[in-house]
Amino acid sequence: MTVRKTVAFSKKSANLFFHILTKCNLSCRHCYINPEQQGESNLPLKTIKAWLEAFSHDFPTANVIFLGGEPTLHPGLNHAIHYARQLGFRSITVDTNGYLFHDILSKVSPGEVDFFSFSLDGATRKTNDGIRGDGSYDACIKGIHKSIAKGFAASLIYTVSRLNIHELEMMPSFLNDLGIERFFIQVIGLRGKAADSNTAGNLQVTRSEWLKIVPSMAQKIARRGITVSFPKVYLDPEEKFECAGLVARNYFIFPNGRVYRCPLCEDLPIHSLEFIDNQPVKTAKLNESDLFALNIPEGCVMNKLIQPDNLSYTVGGVPEYKIACCLLKEEIKPK
Ligand code: SF4
Ligand code: SF4
Repeated sequence: MTVRKTVAFSKKSANLFFHILTKCNLSCRHCYINPEQQGESNLPLKTIKAWLEAFSHDFPTANVIFLGGEPTLHPGLNHAIHYARQLGFRSITVDTNGYLFHDILSKVSPGEVDFFSFSLDGATRKTNDGIRGDGSYDACIKGIHKSIAKGFAASLIYTVSRLNIHELEMMPSFLNDLGIERFFIQVIGLRGKAADSNTAGNLQVTRSEWLKIVPSMAQKIARRGITVSFPKVYLDPEEKFECAGLVARNYFIFPNGRVYRCPLCEDLPIHSLEFIDNQPVKTAKLNESDLFALNIPEGCVMNKLIQPDNLSYTVGGVPEYKIACCLLKEEIKPK
């Protein structure tokens, strides 16, 4: 038995997606990082602590997600985790490609890190490495085994594309064998390298492929005792549309001090906040916040601006469906 729900946005909880660097040892085909817009330096540990502290005043029970680039390339990640825990944040997750640099598993404890969340884009070496680079599959699997052996909880992030959607059907037993507790399915976005090379446009799956395969596979995986989350993506015309920028508390923090409320805006200098003297300060208009309230029949404004190809209209010009906020998730839990 499983229970499926749309995870409603809430102003009561907050999520801090803290990119402590943008550097990475891999070069994935769909990488959304854009160092030109987000900074190239490793954020000094002192600054990481100051920014965590600044957010802890307004959001003492936020969930903190450390990410990059590859966050374990940062030599101060363990200290950042200790400090975030000390500040009392609700949960701490580390998103990693699995290489687990700087012997991070020996420097933090399962009591401090709620999840190591591993990115893998295929059930097979061939498919994953075709997307993420040679050797990345073996490194990721090794990292998962190692972290579970040390008592950490592991989740897995799978970015669905034309290159790997066929391997979703292999995931239920694969995830069980690995010992994964939570599975996140992601959609490719036209940002960062993916937008530059125009690769993602070819890699994105169609609406019918997504709807035919993703929800049913998520269901099958959840029946194996794994919590599965995937983006809603498409809303029927009568379904209510909400923009997380208006009704939720998500902050995407980058090493150059930019703080975005919407991931689709991260390629543009329209961030809502910017760290000045280690305090998040609202930026001048126009910025992303001015877009959030625009009410259009297609749903998400940013989607229409940067990836209009996933919209479809009747002959009369009416949208056939709305695009949901990219942060709206469906969750299926084992009962
Ligand atoms: S997608 Fe993640 S692992 Fe891949 S290159 Fe980008 S930051 Fe690195
Ligand atoms: S993805 Fe669209 S709906 Fe979601 S926060 Fe951004 S602009 Fe708003």
